[in-house]
Amino acid sequence: MTQFDVTVIGAGAAGLFCAAQAGQRGLKVLLLDHAVKVAEKIRISGGGRCNFTNVDCGPGHFLSANRDFCRSALARYSAADFVALVRRHGIAFHEKHRGQLFCDGSAEQIVAMLLDECRTGGVVHWQPCSVAEVRADAQGFLLASARGPVRSSQVVVATGGLSIPKIGATDFGHRLARQFGHRIIEPRPALVPQTFSADVWAPFAPLAGTSLEVAIETGGGKQRGHFVEDLLFTHRGLSGPAVLQASSYWRPGQPLQLDLATGRDLDALLRAAKSTSKRQMGNALGQWLPQRLADAWLVLHGMPADRPLPEWRDADLSRLAQSLARWSIVPNGTEGFHKAEVTAGGVDTRELDSRSLQSRRQTGLYFVGEVVDVTGWLGGYNFQWAWSSAMACAQALAST
Ligand SMILES: Cc1cc2nc3c(=O)[nH]c(=O)nc-3n(C[C@H](O)[C@H](O)[C@H](O)COP(=O)(O)OP(=O)(O)OC[C@H]3O[C@@H](n4cnc5c(N)ncnc54)[C@H](O)[C@@H]3O)c2cc1C
Repeated sequence: MTQFDVTVIGAGAAGLFCAAQAGQRGLKVLLLDHAVKVAEKIRISGGGRCNFTNVDCGPGHFLSANRDFCRSALARYSAADFVALVRRHGIAFHEKHRGQLFCDGSAEQIVAMLLDECRTGGVVHWQPCSVAEVRADAQGFLLASARGPVRSSQVVVATGGLSIPKIGATDFGHRLARQFGHRIIEPRPALVPQTFSADVWAPFAPLAGTSLEVAIETGGGKQRGHFVEDLLFTHRGLSGPAVLQASSYWRPGQPLQLDLATGRDLDALLRAAKSTSKRQMGNALGQWLPQRLADAWLVLHGMPADRPLPEWRDADLSRLAQSLARWSIVPNGTEGFHKAEVTAGGVDTRELDSRSLQSRRQTGLYFVGEVVDVTGWLGGYNFQWAWSSAMACAQALAST
């Protein structure tokens, strides 16, 4: 039977990076993954260009039941460290929006870089290869893999979250964690479009394709999310960065609070326009909102789009401005794991060591990446968590 220092289960972002780093430290590493294609999530990320990190990345950009947990790993392997690796591999990249770094070419370059790093580390890579069972005994771990039994002194679980099952996501990591006595923070879809019941959404469905910058808020207490980002109306509900970000904080039954005129005092603008212009309200509102939204909003609130501004009472102008600045709407759900970019929740960090990602319940067992209850905002933070947690783990693994 083959004997390894470390077996890494899951060859996605965190698993590839952890295996490569451990291998380069001289450890005998086996990396295995049940999917046919390696790192498919990296390949499809960032619209095919992989938003591989964010230059402004700190603990405040993550959700977790234990908010400080990610601090140590992020501090010890930062966005700048990963950028240096990307540069060493000659991959051209650019900053797009708020510190988000994307490949100029293709996400394939990041996959190729990680595979190259694994080759440098002499990593043995079995893929596709599933794992039926992981048992702990006095010598470490015994794995029942599709390519036969494997002995390993340490096991790293890097099997990701539940998002996008059609490209290989499973609950394997959560099940394995439970087997070793870990608690799981209830997994839920995050960075995901929100849906509404047919009757609530009927007036807005014709706005599908309309987008605008908004301020959005949801959640409560420490789990309150507030973002200023673009919103997109769809046939079934709301999407775009604003709603994806808010969805990570949203819990069933809670409203989304939106300011559709963010950055503007619409009440003052409408009063000023009333004193200087005879335009119809629909046209006036169209200066500050997408015209389709302005028209639909007036119909929805029983306000005449064709009434000239001077004929509006100040109180009605205020009512209109308020309705746009404080739109509160309750989703009936989300598009679910098949559309979610990430999974919030996962292995409870209170039972993991934040410096090494090692289980406090089973010596030699580690959890890295998205399987852990650390969820980043939209914008490259989730990959940075994959790299940082993988590096923290790789440095802690022992050669046996
Ligand atoms: C469409 C999309 C776009 C995204 N874009 C970005 C982006 O631009 N920037 C960003 O920061 N984040 C992005 N993300 C999130 C990011 O891809 C993940 O957070 C990141 O890949 C998590 O890394 P991971 O290694 O923990 O998990 P994954 O990359 O999901 O890897 C897990 C691996 O484990 C394997 N596996 C699962 N179950 C088993 C099993 N039972 N046995 C063996 N192997 C198993 C899977 O096949 C997979 O290869 C995006 C996600 C999606 C879905």
